[in-house]
Amino acid sequence: MDLGIRGKTAIVCAASKGLGRGCAEALAEAGVDLVINARSAEPLQAAAQEIAEKYGVRVVPVAADIATENGRRAVLAAMPAPDILVNNAGGPPPGMWYDWEREDFIKALDANMLAPIAMMKAVLPAMMDNGWGRVVNITSQSVKSPIAVLGLSNSARAGLTGYVGGTSRQVAGSGVTINNLLPGIHATDRAVSLDQGVVAAQGISLSEAKAQRAATIPAGRYGTTGEFGAMCAFLCSNKAGFIVGQNILLDGGAVNATL
Ligand code: NAP
Repeated sequence: MDLGIRGKTAIVCAASKGLGRGCAEALAEAGVDLVINARSAEPLQAAAQEIAEKYGVRVVPVAADIATENGRRAVLAAMPAPDILVNNAGGPPPGMWYDWEREDFIKALDANMLAPIAMMKAVLPAMMDNGWGRVVNITSQSVKSPIAVLGLSNSARAGLTGYVGGTSRQVAGSGVTINNLLPGIHATDRAVSLDQGVVAAQGISLSEAKAQRAATIPAGRYGTTGEFGAMCAFLCSNKAGFIVGQNILLDGGAVNATL
């Protein structure tokens, strides 16, 4: 399918690996020129080079912490008016409800709620002036079904989801769509670190922890970054202009709900 976005431009945040990288690759495959971001310069530079060579698009790496104002300024300086924005950042650490103090919440809110909101506020005006724009926020299945040990994530992502619910309706009339993608477990470093938490807590091996988690997913496996990126690219495509303010689960059926 021709996604109709060849020649458009996109910022993909937190994209040197994992789900953000999957989104960057799928957009590049559709012919979109990119600014990609992550904190560590070297792997980011390597990712940019690999994507540019593989898909023949322009890829500019900006090493910066997207959870900070300076980091966002650097990313936006490289591409002030993208057609497409994919918001992403690392997820907060696991713990128990009594572990987290105000500073822990502020960190989680900065990375997983306030950073994507700031990025949207920066790019939406130009998208609306152009009469076309796409924003995809990477959130989590925890928005629909809480993951108890990820209380910081549950809280911050719920806030972002509320903001998107209203804002997406305010900008839709200008040809701009905002939607959220809710990953269940995907085979990335983040999943490995969550599995390592289970290894430490239960004294089992990493492969046992993985098998245990995979057994909770009706699809019987972890998702791939390629599958995730493909859905992101579709939401960013010309075909998806009527999809507004949705929260789309990519979880192999893990959230057990009819709707
Ligand atoms: P990952 O494999 O660990 O990759 C994270 C990427 O984000 C890396 O490129 C990392 O590079 C970059 N990054 C992290 N924090 C950043 C920051 N503050 N500023 C800029 N770049 C940053 O993680 P993932 O699995 O793709 O997860 C992406 C998001 O989806 C996370 O919020 C995670 O909680 C959520 N999620 C993941 C899963 C899953 O199963 N994988 C499930 C549900 C939700 P640097 O470290 O160099 O910055």
